[in-house]
Amino acid sequence: MDRAPETLARAYPPARYRALDGHAELAVAEAAGSAGSRPARVTTILAALCAGFGEVSADRGTARRVSAAGREWLLQRAALRFRGQWDWYEAPCDACGARFDLRLSLTDIPHVDAGPGFPVAEVSTSLGRRRFEAPNGGHEEALAGMRDVEDPRRVFAALCGLSEAAEAEAIRFDLHDLARIDAALEAVSPDVADSVDAVCPYCGSASKARIDPLTFAFPGVETPLREVHLIASAYRWTEPEILDLPVARRRAYAELIRAERGRLPSRVRRAS
Ligand SMILES: [Zn+2]
Repeated sequence: MDRAPETLARAYPPARYRALDGHAELAVAEAAGSAGSRPARVTTILAALCAGFGEVSADRGTARRVSAAGREWLLQRAALRFRGQWDWYEAPCDACGARFDLRLSLTDIPHVDAGPGFPVAEVSTSLGRRRFEAPNGGHEEALAGMRDVEDPRRVFAALCGLSEAAEAEAIRFDLHDLARIDAALEAVSPDVADSVDAVCPYCGSASKARIDPLTFAFPGVETPLREVHLIASAYRWTEPEILDLPVARRRAYAELIRAERGRLPSRVRRAS
């Protein structure tokens, strides 16, 4: 008997967001800046910001079960919690290397729907007909954690195979099998572009601007930590109490404290 697929049946599950408090903001900031693998960082960010993916409630486990493209799509939308819908991005020109600015909306990055049968693809292999699930975040995390991967297609055949013996069979698949499995998974999987078409204003060449929200769209740890420090020193609240505040309210308190300190004569400030 085949196991049931883990990849969520909804390729692009709409996010239900949590109220943004300091705990979530700090978790996102630490993940965005961490040295962990990209898939693991995406899992942390989606689990911190989302209460649900469609009908499914969100945690690290379900964030891993979203299709690989669905996660990128969610990440682009999650970035809008911190950026405006339309924003300026800097991209290098493929032809002349100059960096230029382009204005775009992250939600306009093209994406392709899943193929029929998603999340499962059936493939004729030299071992018989076998079923595979479209790769999800958990599979990406597993691959990112492996060393010396000779052929990622064989890894995906083992991870995504629904047969009870998927791991052993993945070793026995020949290159022809691997090519067919790879093609079937690609056909059934949804897809999100990681770049947009642009024209370089310096040399006029058509260029692909790679847009990775993870590299620029999420906050750093400095602002939340600075505000925690400011509020803690003014009100004597603890760090967890301050992080419990909705981010907008924490920011407002920090502003009030800054404004008050700004109004004090400097000799009083030095004395305090
Ligand atoms: Zn150029």
